[in-house]
Amino acid sequence: MTDIRYVAPQTLDEAIGAYAAAGSAARILAGGTDLLVQMRSGAVKPGLIVDIKKVRELTAVEEISGGGFRIGAAVPGAVLAEHPRFRQTWPGVLEAVNLIGSTQVQGRASAGGNLCNASPAGAIVTVQGPDGRRELKVEDVPAGPGRTNLKPGEILVSFTLPPRPPGSSDAYLRMIPRTEMDIAVVGCGVSLTLKDGVCTHARVGLGAVAPTALLVEPAAQALIGSRLDDTALTAAANACRAACRPIDDKRGTIAYRTQIAGVLLKRTTNIAAERAQGK
Ligand SMILES: Cc1cc2nc3c(=O)[nH]c(=O)nc-3n(C[C@H](O)[C@H](O)[C@H](O)COP(=O)(O)OP(=O)(O)OC[C@H]3O[C@@H](n4cnc5c(N)ncnc54)[C@H](O)[C@@H]3O)c2cc1C
Repeated sequence: MTDIRYVAPQTLDEAIGAYAAAGSAARILAGGTDLLVQMRSGAVKPGLIVDIKKVRELTAVEEISGGGFRIGAAVPGAVLAEHPRFRQTWPGVLEAVNLIGSTQVQGRASAGGNLCNASPAGAIVTVQGPDGRRELKVEDVPAGPGRTNLKPGEILVSFTLPPRPPGSSDAYLRMIPRTEMDIAVVGCGVSLTLKDGVCTHARVGLGAVAPTALLVEPAAQALIGSRLDDTALTAAANACRAACRPIDDKRGTIAYRTQIAGVLLKRTTNIAAERAQGK
């Protein structure tokens, strides 16, 4: 039997020190909803578990100047849902986080753990390791299924969501074969800004249709400058379909996933636009 050591440091420096010193034998523990499943199945056999839930910076939700938010990497979905103002500013981000698992899973599962397990919103991610602190775009963190671009010893510290201009909102929808507790066939997130009915800024993200989440710039460009009419939505939907590189599995064929990506783009954009207009 392999011995497993467990530490629960109070500071980020202590956590990084322990994690980096143990090298590839160590695993970070946030909510544990992925890690414990992997350990039980024997897929992962860590020599050291570094529990990061006692580090304040990793478990705090803070409003930053101008109306943005900094979310600690280990903040569970249920805690984020209870924040008095986050839902108003970033409803789509909250939708995405709160679709993870069930109520029970939500009490533990963090967005940081989800990203590091390697599964959008214009978020900047802060990471820190033995060589100091650096920032990455959220879309640059996953490197492929089960792999990230974090260097050895680096811990994901927080997500920073920028302040938003008036007329901005977002939405997230996912398609699953069952009514809940399933993995997405396709996920779609849209963040946009409207001024006098015209889309002035957009970001479109797709999940589960490629080895990593995709930021679909041509879809965003199809929306920007339009009044989100049928022509613009169809162009954006086609751009999403063109970006898909999905797998064929029991949840959905390549053709099905590709078709659904365009459908979700239209629905998600409409929800985000209604929210941006305060409807
Ligand atoms: C019943 C059930 C249903 C689920 N449903 C869904 C679902 O619908 N959608 C979905 O996407 N996932 C789902 N999951 C998977 C899981 O809940 C999510 O991926 C969750 O967000 C993981 O977060 P966590 O805090 O529990 O991560 P953990 O299990 O603590 O960590 C996951 C991985 O990330 C690493 N890690 C964690 N935090 C950091 C950090 N700050 N820095 C560096 N590395 C870190 C860990 O070492 C580990 O390798 C489900 C799991 C269960 C058990």
